[in-house]
Amino acid sequence: MNAIEVNDLKYRYHDGTEALRGVSFCIAPGECVALLGPNGSGKSTLLLHLNGILPEKLSGDGTVKILGEPVTPENLETIRRQVGLVFQDPDDQLFCPTVQEDVAFGPQQLGLGDVEIAVRVQKALAQVGLAGFGRRATHHLSHGEKRRVCLAGVLACEPAVLVLDEPTSDLDPRGRREFKALLRQIPATKLIATHDLELVVELCSRAIVLDGGSVVADGPMLELLNDEKLMLEHGLERPHILRHQHPH
Ligand code: ADP
Repeated sequence: MNAIEVNDLKYRYHDGTEALRGVSFCIAPGECVALLGPNGSGKSTLLLHLNGILPEKLSGDGTVKILGEPVTPENLETIRRQVGLVFQDPDDQLFCPTVQEDVAFGPQQLGLGDVEIAVRVQKALAQVGLAGFGRRATHHLSHGEKRRVCLAGVLACEPAVLVLDEPTSDLDPRGRREFKALLRQIPATKLIATHDLELVVELCSRAIVLDGGSVVADGPMLELLNDEKLMLEHGLERPHILRHQHPH
């Protein structure tokens, strides 16, 4: 069974913008897949469909299945237990006064008991390197810390599928390094929309390239990233760390 199955997904915003024009792909459990593409290619729109955040088009134009379960208005609760989505902007995700409350919110929604919640919050904060931050005010944290709190909130729900939108943008080099090390340790199936090609080279075995709301390439990561023509055609570039290697 696939972890993520997207079949002929189309989405048009209210103003008429066609953000997705028939996107199809499958991701097997345990895969770590990069979602690449220029700005405006539809990456965020696609990711929002994976846990039904754009619900008005859940029926009709295409289907999304998570672990075999179709994403429909009726089973959003089940789907959201399986899929952890980390937004691009932490300020869109964080809304509780303290770090602890924010990280506890997801597990509370899952209906877990207080003791289990407390254990999960502590564990998730430790995982993201924020042990001891529980009582800090969320809005006083640095951007990098906010990102980690968002990830902790998602990890505390122990999702089988982790979906990340630009997880390393605005992180300093050390923050990036630590974030990548952290992601590597998480066993969930991962789909990561990113412009951070170093992250892609280090973590992802496969890449999907979106452009203009369509999948223009889907294959082994190194093969795609080494394809200079493909990269340039779609507003990307062959990463520097591959430059010393010969294209395959
Ligand atoms: P990406 O994440 O690859 O930058 P997006 O999914 O954000 O791409 O955007 C895809 C297309 O949809 C773009 O043309 C963008 O301008 C448009 N778009 C995104 N959000 C909205 C919105 N809320 N209303 C109208 N158009 C939108």
